[in-house]
Amino acid sequence: MIDLKKRQWINLLEILDKMQKQKINYDKVLQKMKADWQAKNAQPRVLLHSCCAPCSTYTLKNLSEAAQVTVLYANPNIHPANEYHRRLEEQKRFITAFNQRNAQTIGVIETGYEPEKFVRMVREADLENEPEEGKRCTLCFQLRLTLAAQQAVCGGYDYFASTLTISPMKDAELINQLGLKLQERYGVLYLPSDFKKGGGYQQSIQLSKEYGIYRQHYCGCLFAARQQGIDLKTVNQEAKHYLDQLDSQNASS
Ligand code: SF4
Repeated sequence: MIDLKKRQWINLLEILDKMQKQKINYDKVLQKMKADWQAKNAQPRVLLHSCCAPCSTYTLKNLSEAAQVTVLYANPNIHPANEYHRRLEEQKRFITAFNQRNAQTIGVIETGYEPEKFVRMVREADLENEPEEGKRCTLCFQLRLTLAAQQAVCGGYDYFASTLTISPMKDAELINQLGLKLQERYGVLYLPSDFKKGGGYQQSIQLSKEYGIYRQHYCGCLFAARQQGIDLKTVNQEAKHYLDQLDSQNASS
């Protein structure tokens, strides 16, 4: 019988235990998955949940080289409605320009705007005053990733993914763990990521400048905007002005 307290040799279980506690580098995991697709000479269909155009810039550059990507704009958290539509229009405008510049055919799907679902969910959980990066954000990620997983099942996609991991303000480990849980619940593969790694976040800023994309000053929800002291009246007016200009451009073209 081996006395584990007086042992000389390292126990395999200790190594495994240590490995489990290591933080997984989801960017490396994604690179391995992409290398596997390339080795198989295959391009899977990926439904990419996007929170906004700026976050989708580098993310699309990263994924579209190895996969057939469709963007899903599913963001019931955004307040007010005009701001939601402004961000959606910027998303579409960016994708059109990206497709032209890179000979791509990336499409955009929108789930429809149902902010009352998000607000009810936050109020029922009593998380209105939760700080950014707290429990309210976990619910918000879960809601949007769930919409992506459901849409991926309906559309027969090979994977669903999210741009959310590009933000230095958002916990990639948490987002990836939520994605993996939804993979099990919905039976559709989740594509892990940590898009901010390897200079991804900086590249998203650079690409946003190159494409002239509007960069918002708050994450999206009413609660975070209030905490940050954002002037939502001005946000609403500017978004309305943007949408009115777009309407007149479309009418005259
Ligand atoms: S701060 Fe951003 S991620 Fe957090 S709940 Fe609000 S919109 Fe969602």
